Formats: sequence, C-alpha cells, structure tokens
Amino acid sequence: MPGGGNEENDDRLLAADSRARLSCPSCGSSHVAQVLGDNGGISYVCTACGHSWS
Ligand SMILES: [Zn+2]
Repeated sequence: MPGGGNEENDDRLLAADSRARLSCPSCGSSHVAQVLGDNGGISYVCTACGHSWS
C-alpha cells in the first residue's frame, strides 16, 4: 500500500510542529496539553501553572 508510511510520517511532523509552537500565555511554559472543549473546539491547558485558554 503506497502512502501508508508517508501518512504516518506527516502526522508525526505535524504533531511535533504544533507542540513546538505552543507556549503558555501566563507563564511562558511549553508544557501545554491540548484538550477538547465542550463545543468540539480545542482548548489548551498549561500543565505547569494550570492556566487554560483556547
Ligand atoms: Zn503556564
């Protein structure tokens, strides 16, 4: 199956890029987790200080 390996590789690159861009607006930490919001959107939570935003 052509494309299977490439697709997996793209997912990893996208995930790494997304994580690298995130930083907490409150404390500046890069320890940020993505969580699903009530309306299907994505919110972010800083695991260092507990600040959450979207
Ligand atoms: Zn923070």
